[in-house]
Amino acid sequence: MTTVLFAAGAARWTLWEAPLRRALAGMEVDLVTSAPPEAVDVLIYAPGGDTPSDFTPFTRCKAVLSLWAGVERIVGNATLTQPLCRMVDPGLTQGMVEYVTGHALRMHLGMADLRQDGVWEPVIPPLASERPVAMLGLGALGAACGQALAGLGFPVMGWSRRPRAVAGLSCHHGAAGLERVLRQAQIVVTLLPATPETENLLNAERLAWLPRGAAILNPGRGSLIEDAALLEALGSGQVGQATLDVFRIEPLPPGHPYWAHSRVTVTPHIAADTRPESAAGVIAENIRRLHAGEALLHLVDRRAGY
Ligand code: NAP
Repeated sequence: MTTVLFAAGAARWTLWEAPLRRALAGMEVDLVTSAPPEAVDVLIYAPGGDTPSDFTPFTRCKAVLSLWAGVERIVGNATLTQPLCRMVDPGLTQGMVEYVTGHALRMHLGMADLRQDGVWEPVIPPLASERPVAMLGLGALGAACGQALAGLGFPVMGWSRRPRAVAGLSCHHGAAGLERVLRQAQIVVTLLPATPETENLLNAERLAWLPRGAAILNPGRGSLIEDAALLEALGSGQVGQATLDVFRIEPLPPGHPYWAHSRVTVTPHIAADTRPESAAGVIAENIRRLHAGEALLHLVDRRAGY
């Protein structure tokens, strides 16, 4: 019998218990919310809640399965020596595709500037085919969002750490690739993980590479953007608008300049939630793989940090 400890908080347990029990039905699994650490075979983890910060006592644990796609809050934990798997969930991916396409179209069509003041002033937006998009990050989420935007007609330039090929996108990588895509992009979408390498990726120098008035859409992580540089670029008109879902401090503090900025839309880290109904199947598949001695899905590369 495999003991699976749900260590992602009591609030999440109410949402996850039924889908997990359904997904694990028929498997030799004991799904629990408390157990002596030395008796735990698999840990289901999410930041916050009653998640352990010291993994040393989990001597029998063979895998830590994250409910979150981003693992920056656990990947550097030196006591975590067990394999760590991040979440790649069809429901989460679909949510991100809807968020990114919705906000990219809103920015593209200038919906924030629609007039309700009685002035009839036609402004014809360009077609999507005339609006190049940079998709920074070509992983599970960036590739799906990039393909959805390409399907709407946007020319999408993808950028990743290593060379990638994604159908329908032109793909770039490395420092030269980043400059190439930013110099052309009128909308920049950031779907990168928070790692030391991606910290402040969009800084003053790189924001200056963008065509004047470009839009930023960040559903990745707050640390990807140097906030002072973005505010400066918004103030000068170099960046025309920004839609931000993630921040260095969450919740975004009430007095933060982003809240009151007329060119910024704040969403409260809701771009894409993990959906228990579909994600429970991903957890169950990895436990099945453990039982069968097969390679785990979505293993985190500790050195790369994602
Ligand atoms: P993923 O599959 O791990 O993909 C990450 C992508 O980023 C890969 O293409 C990777 O390049 C690229 N990358 C990483 N470091 C890089 C670097 N230094 N330079 C250039 N490219 C780099 O991750 P995912 O599932 O798509 O998720 C992406 C991020 O979205 C998560 O880490 C999380 O922070 C965020 N997220 C946000 C929400 C929300 O609600 N706001 C929800 C879920 C996830 P390679 O392809 O070369 O490896």
